[in-house]
Amino acid sequence: MQIITLPEETAIYYGALWNGIDTEIAGAGTLYTIGGLISNKPGCQAKSLDFSHLTLMPAMIDCHVHLAMPYKSSDSLAARINKILMAGVAAVREAGSRNETFFSDPRLLIANCCRAISKKGFYGSNLSKEVSSLPEALAEINRLASQGAQHLKLITSDIFSFSQYGKTGPLPFSQSELTAMTELAKKLGLAVMAHASGDEAVRRCIEAGVNSIEHGYFMLEETLPELIKHDIAWVPTLTPVAVHLSNPHLCSLLSPAEKNTISRSLERQIEMVGLGGALGIRIGAGTDAGGKGVPHGSSLVKEIELLRQAGLPNAQVLKAATSEAAKICAFANLGVIQPGYRALLLAVRGNPLIQPEILAQPEALLLN
Ligand SMILES: [Zn+2]
Repeated sequence: MQIITLPEETAIYYGALWNGIDTEIAGAGTLYTIGGLISNKPGCQAKSLDFSHLTLMPAMIDCHVHLAMPYKSSDSLAARINKILMAGVAAVREAGSRNETFFSDPRLLIANCCRAISKKGFYGSNLSKEVSSLPEALAEINRLASQGAQHLKLITSDIFSFSQYGKTGPLPFSQSELTAMTELAKKLGLAVMAHASGDEAVRRCIEAGVNSIEHGYFMLEETLPELIKHDIAWVPTLTPVAVHLSNPHLCSLLSPAEKNTISRSLERQIEMVGLGGALGIRIGAGTDAGGKGVPHGSSLVKEIELLRQAGLPNAQVLKAATSEAAKICAFANLGVIQPGYRALLLAVRGNPLIQPEILAQPEALLLN
């Protein structure tokens, strides 16, 4: 795997191309870039790159990561970012850190929320600022926007219980509080990503008008069409739950009853993702990297594999990590190979629409 910084003007010869949207790949051709953007005509000083043995596609995007949290305590932030890039991921949406942090990196595109907002005494203190009242929450949202946050992360429920199937705990915010926070964020130009598990939490987020539901475990089937009606995306984060069953260390910490609860919860979520995907819900691939047992970078291919297990067609799964992910993360002109879009590209060996598993071993990430 190579990371290549594109020259100012390039002509890239490719063997095949997936544009981030279509259900089929196109045959061999030449892609031009000028000043980091895809162009429909060559620049006069274009340098050529020969990928005629490879397939070009948009670089991948992870819709939900925690850059501040190391998978291994020995991992530095630079090492985490490098692992993300080496996995073929060129952009991420941050989902909250304990300390006030706006991440930036010359190579990785990062949409920052800084700290999430949670209610004092409820879940989320490890990745958020805890607030005690609505005025305090609104002041924090104004402050985050003025500091340069690109979106707002709200913690609107606990995580689900590993010991009691379907239990998701008390809800921290009332409907009116959630609606007021979401309305202010939108007025300030911030999209809202809402951590929500349990049907009631998801319903309140829908009513408030958030832009994406993160996790959404134990959402009821009848709630799925509401996401479509209100054009709300879903980032189901299957990986952070699946790792509890596949990582030997995490598995050893669980009782047989807990393993059973986690396994049933994951199976239910996978089934709901299949139903939601078939209905046409906009689904994003988000790993929750940095969470317990979830490494940065390589986890996106794991999430892709789990979305396939849900029965989503391969094109829909790949879109969840490219063109749809770009929309969910509000990255303008990204995730699609079209003139005018940013030239953040991935070269892979084979056809990702037929064998998405080849994404585990990309050949080159092209950045600018
Ligand atoms: Zn998270």
